[in-house]
Amino acid sequence: MLNLIFLGPPGAGKGTQSQRLAQRFAIPQLSTGDILRRAVAEGSPLGKQAKALMDAGKLVPDEVVNAIVEEALARPEARRGFLLDGYPRTVAQATALDEMLARRGRKLDYVVSLDVPVEVLVDRLSGRLTCPKDGSTYHARTNPPKRPGLCDSDSTPLVQRPDDQPGAVRRRLAEYQNKTALLTDYYKPRGVLRTIEGVGTPEDVEGRIVSALRDNLTAGPANP
Ligand code: AMP
Repeated sequence: MLNLIFLGPPGAGKGTQSQRLAQRFAIPQLSTGDILRRAVAEGSPLGKQAKALMDAGKLVPDEVVNAIVEEALARPEARRGFLLDGYPRTVAQATALDEMLARRGRKLDYVVSLDVPVEVLVDRLSGRLTCPKDGSTYHARTNPPKRPGLCDSDSTPLVQRPDDQPGAVRRRLAEYQNKTALLTDYYKPRGVLRTIEGVGTPEDVEGRIVSALRDNLTAGPANP
Protein backbone atom coordinates (compact mmCIF):
# COMPACT_ATOMS: atom_id res chain seq x y z
CA MET A 1 0.00 0.00 0.00
CA LEU A 2 1.40 3.36 -1.04
CA ASN A 3 -0.59 6.57 -0.68
CA LEU A 4 1.30 9.42 -2.24
CA ILE A 5 0.56 12.94 -3.42
CA PHE A 6 2.52 15.19 -5.74
CA LEU A 7 2.88 18.88 -5.04
CA GLY A 8 4.47 21.42 -7.32
CA PRO A 9 3.64 24.26 -9.68
CA PRO A 10 2.14 23.67 -13.12
CA GLY A 11 4.86 22.29 -15.39
CA ALA A 12 6.86 20.78 -12.52
CA GLY A 13 6.38 17.25 -13.91
CA LYS A 14 3.65 15.96 -11.60
CA GLY A 15 1.75 14.29 -14.45
CA THR A 16 4.86 12.74 -16.01
CA GLN A 17 6.23 11.43 -12.74
CA SER A 18 2.93 10.20 -11.38
CA GLN A 19 2.35 8.22 -14.59
CA ARG A 20 5.79 6.64 -14.29
CA LEU A 21 5.43 5.79 -10.60
CA ALA A 22 1.90 4.48 -11.13
CA GLN A 23 3.38 1.91 -13.53
CA ARG A 24 6.31 1.13 -11.29
CA PHE A 25 4.16 0.52 -8.20
CA ALA A 26 1.03 -0.75 -10.02
CA ILE A 27 -1.29 1.72 -8.35
CA PRO A 28 -3.63 4.23 -10.03
CA GLN A 29 -2.71 7.79 -10.86
CA LEU A 30 -5.57 10.10 -9.98
CA SER A 31 -5.28 13.42 -11.79
CA THR A 32 -8.06 15.90 -11.05
CA GLY A 33 -6.94 17.93 -14.10
CA ASP A 34 -7.30 14.89 -16.41
CA ILE A 35 -10.72 14.02 -14.93
CA LEU A 36 -11.90 17.61 -15.39
CA ARG A 37 -10.55 17.81 -18.96
CA ARG A 38 -12.40 14.59 -19.81
CA ALA A 39 -15.61 16.09 -18.37
CA VAL A 40 -15.09 19.23 -20.48
CA ALA A 41 -14.54 17.12 -23.62
CA GLU A 42 -17.71 15.14 -22.92
CA GLY A 43 -19.69 18.32 -22.24
CA SER A 44 -21.06 16.87 -18.98
CA PRO A 45 -22.58 19.20 -16.34
CA LEU A 46 -19.29 19.01 -14.41
CA GLY A 47 -17.37 19.94 -17.57
CA LYS A 48 -19.69 22.87 -18.31
CA GLN A 49 -19.21 24.17 -14.78
CA ALA A 50 -15.41 23.86 -14.90
CA LYS A 51 -14.49 24.90 -18.46
CA ALA A 52 -14.37 28.69 -18.17
CA LEU A 53 -12.39 28.58 -14.93
CA MET A 54 -9.93 26.05 -16.33
CA ASP A 55 -9.40 27.93 -19.60
CA ALA A 56 -8.68 31.07 -17.60
CA GLY A 57 -6.14 29.25 -15.42
CA LYS A 58 -8.20 29.58 -12.25
CA LEU A 59 -8.96 26.85 -9.72
CA VAL A 60 -12.37 25.18 -9.78
CA PRO A 61 -14.26 25.22 -6.45
CA ASP A 62 -13.00 22.98 -3.64
CA GLU A 63 -16.37 21.13 -3.30
CA VAL A 64 -16.22 20.11 -6.96
CA VAL A 65 -12.74 18.58 -6.81
CA ASN A 66 -13.29 17.10 -3.35
CA ALA A 67 -16.28 15.17 -4.73
CA ILE A 68 -14.19 13.91 -7.68
CA VAL A 69 -11.46 12.60 -5.37
CA GLU A 70 -13.92 11.05 -2.94
CA GLU A 71 -15.39 9.05 -5.81
CA ALA A 72 -11.98 8.06 -7.19
CA LEU A 73 -10.76 6.84 -3.79
CA ALA A 74 -13.84 4.66 -3.43
CA ARG A 75 -13.00 2.66 -6.59
CA PRO A 76 -11.65 -0.86 -6.08
CA GLU A 77 -8.41 -0.13 -7.97
CA ALA A 78 -7.48 2.50 -5.36
CA ARG A 79 -7.56 -0.07 -2.56
CA ARG A 80 -3.85 -0.85 -2.95
CA GLY A 81 -2.86 2.81 -2.97
CA PHE A 82 -2.91 5.90 -5.16
CA LEU A 83 -0.84 8.71 -6.60
CA LEU A 84 -2.69 12.00 -6.49
CA ASP A 85 -1.57 14.47 -9.13
CA GLY A 86 -2.89 18.04 -8.94
CA TYR A 87 -4.83 17.58 -5.71
CA PRO A 88 -4.89 18.99 -3.06
CA ARG A 89 -4.29 22.53 -4.25
CA THR A 90 -5.69 24.49 -1.28
CA VAL A 91 -5.57 24.03 2.48
CA ALA A 92 -9.33 23.34 2.43
CA GLN A 93 -8.72 20.48 -0.04
CA ALA A 94 -5.88 19.14 2.11
CA THR A 95 -8.10 19.00 5.18
CA ALA A 96 -10.91 17.41 3.14
CA LEU A 97 -8.43 14.75 1.96
CA ASP A 98 -7.33 14.07 5.54
CA GLU A 99 -10.97 13.50 6.48
CA MET A 100 -11.61 11.21 3.51
CA LEU A 101 -8.56 9.11 4.34
CA ALA A 102 -9.35 9.00 8.06
CA ARG A 103 -12.85 7.71 7.26
CA ARG A 104 -11.21 4.88 5.31
CA GLY A 105 -8.60 4.19 8.00
CA ARG A 106 -5.79 5.29 5.68
CA LYS A 107 -3.04 7.86 5.81
CA LEU A 108 -0.62 9.61 3.49
CA ASP A 109 2.75 7.93 3.19
CA TYR A 110 4.52 10.60 1.15
CA VAL A 111 4.07 14.08 -0.20
CA VAL A 112 6.55 14.55 -3.05
CA SER A 113 7.12 18.21 -3.81
CA LEU A 114 8.79 18.90 -7.16
CA ASP A 115 10.98 21.97 -7.18
CA VAL A 116 11.57 23.66 -10.56
CA PRO A 117 12.68 27.26 -11.35
CA VAL A 118 9.97 29.45 -12.82
CA GLU A 119 11.74 30.03 -16.17
CA VAL A 120 11.90 26.25 -16.73
CA LEU A 121 8.17 25.97 -15.89
CA VAL A 122 7.25 28.64 -18.43
CA ASP A 123 9.38 26.98 -21.12
CA ARG A 124 7.88 23.55 -20.42
CA LEU A 125 4.28 24.81 -20.44
CA SER A 126 4.56 27.03 -23.49
CA GLY A 127 6.10 24.21 -25.59
CA ARG A 128 3.85 21.47 -24.25
CA LEU A 129 1.67 19.42 -26.60
CA THR A 130 -0.99 17.19 -25.09
CA CYS A 131 -2.92 14.20 -26.40
CA PRO A 132 -6.59 14.99 -25.71
CA LYS A 133 -7.36 11.25 -25.61
CA ASP A 134 -4.84 9.71 -23.22
CA GLY A 135 -3.43 12.85 -21.56
CA SER A 136 0.18 12.05 -22.53
CA THR A 137 2.39 15.07 -23.05
CA TYR A 138 5.24 16.03 -25.36
CA HIS A 139 7.41 19.09 -25.79
CA ALA A 140 7.99 20.68 -29.16
CA ARG A 141 11.77 20.89 -28.54
CA THR A 142 12.82 18.57 -25.73
CA ASN A 143 10.45 15.62 -26.20
CA PRO A 144 8.84 15.73 -29.65
CA PRO A 145 6.44 12.98 -30.74
CA LYS A 146 7.77 10.36 -33.22
CA ARG A 147 5.48 11.71 -35.95
CA PRO A 148 4.99 15.49 -35.89
CA GLY A 149 1.76 16.54 -34.20
CA LEU A 150 0.53 12.99 -33.44
CA CYS A 151 0.35 11.01 -30.20
CA ASP A 152 2.89 8.13 -30.19
CA SER A 153 0.49 5.63 -28.68
CA ASP A 154 -2.82 6.28 -30.49
CA SER A 155 -2.01 8.77 -33.34
CA THR A 156 -4.54 11.29 -32.00
CA PRO A 157 -3.68 14.84 -33.16
CA LEU A 158 -1.91 16.67 -30.33
CA VAL A 159 -3.20 20.02 -29.08
CA GLN A 160 -1.95 22.91 -26.99
CA ARG A 161 -4.09 23.05 -23.86
CA PRO A 162 -6.00 26.35 -23.74
CA ASP A 163 -4.49 26.94 -20.30
CA ASP A 164 -0.93 26.48 -21.64
CA GLN A 165 -1.26 29.79 -23.47
CA PRO A 166 0.73 32.68 -21.95
CA GLY A 167 -2.06 34.59 -20.10
CA ALA A 168 -3.45 31.43 -18.50
CA VAL A 169 0.04 30.19 -17.61
CA ARG A 170 0.65 33.43 -15.69
CA ARG A 171 -2.64 33.03 -13.81
CA ARG A 172 -1.93 29.36 -13.01
CA LEU A 173 1.47 30.24 -11.58
CA ALA A 174 -0.18 33.00 -9.50
CA GLU A 175 -2.87 30.59 -8.24
CA TYR A 176 -0.09 28.20 -7.27
CA GLN A 177 1.84 30.89 -5.36
CA ASN A 178 -1.26 32.23 -3.60
CA LYS A 179 -3.08 29.01 -2.74
CA THR A 180 -0.99 25.88 -3.23
CA ALA A 181 2.59 26.75 -2.23
CA LEU A 182 1.54 26.92 1.45
CA LEU A 183 0.74 23.23 1.43
CA THR A 184 4.40 22.36 1.98
CA ASP A 185 4.06 24.04 5.42
CA TYR A 186 0.87 22.05 6.01
CA TYR A 187 2.63 18.72 5.43
CA LYS A 188 6.13 19.47 6.74
CA PRO A 189 5.40 18.83 10.45
CA ARG A 190 4.16 15.32 9.64
CA GLY A 191 7.53 14.13 8.34
CA VAL A 192 6.02 12.93 5.05
CA LEU A 193 7.31 15.70 2.82
CA ARG A 194 10.09 14.92 0.32
CA THR A 195 11.32 17.85 -1.76
CA ILE A 196 12.89 16.71 -5.02
CA GLU A 197 14.74 18.73 -7.63
CA GLY A 198 12.51 18.48 -10.71
CA VAL A 199 15.01 19.64 -13.36
CA GLY A 200 16.55 17.17 -15.83
CA THR A 201 15.20 14.27 -17.83
CA PRO A 202 12.11 12.37 -16.63
CA GLU A 203 14.44 9.42 -15.86
CA ASP A 204 16.70 11.62 -13.69
CA VAL A 205 13.78 12.98 -11.71
CA GLU A 206 12.18 9.55 -11.30
CA GLY A 207 15.50 8.21 -9.99
CA ARG A 208 15.66 10.98 -7.38
CA ILE A 209 12.11 10.31 -6.25
CA VAL A 210 12.57 6.56 -6.01
CA SER A 211 15.78 6.90 -4.01
CA ALA A 212 14.14 9.43 -1.63
CA LEU A 213 11.32 6.95 -1.01
CA ARG A 214 13.73 4.07 -0.65
CA ASP A 215 15.98 5.94 1.83
CA ASN A 216 12.94 6.48 3.90
CA LEU A 217 11.71 2.93 3.60
CA THR A 218 15.04 1.69 4.95
CA ALA A 219 15.12 4.45 7.61
CA GLY A 220 11.79 3.41 9.08
CA PRO A 221 8.13 4.28 8.75
CA ALA A 222 7.24 7.56 7.02
CA ASN A 223 4.78 8.57 9.70
CA PRO A 224 6.30 8.71 13.14
P1 AMP B 1 -3.75 20.43 -14.08
O1 AMP B 1 -3.94 19.50 -15.21
O2 AMP B 1 -3.47 19.75 -12.78
O3 AMP B 1 -2.76 21.53 -14.38
O4 AMP B 1 -5.16 21.17 -13.87
C1 AMP B 1 -5.73 21.95 -14.90
C2 AMP B 1 -6.82 22.85 -14.34
O5 AMP B 1 -7.85 22.03 -13.75
C3 AMP B 1 -6.39 23.77 -13.21
O6 AMP B 1 -5.78 24.98 -13.68
C4 AMP B 1 -7.72 24.03 -12.52
O7 AMP B 1 -8.53 24.90 -13.26
C5 AMP B 1 -8.36 22.64 -12.58
N1 AMP B 1 -7.98 21.82 -11.41
C6 AMP B 1 -7.32 20.62 -11.44
N2 AMP B 1 -7.14 20.15 -10.19
C7 AMP B 1 -7.69 21.07 -9.35
C8 AMP B 1 -7.80 21.17 -7.94
N3 AMP B 1 -7.30 20.22 -7.13
N4 AMP B 1 -8.43 22.25 -7.43
C9 AMP B 1 -8.95 23.21 -8.22
N5 AMP B 1 -8.86 23.20 -9.56
C10 AMP B 1 -8.24 22.13 -10.13
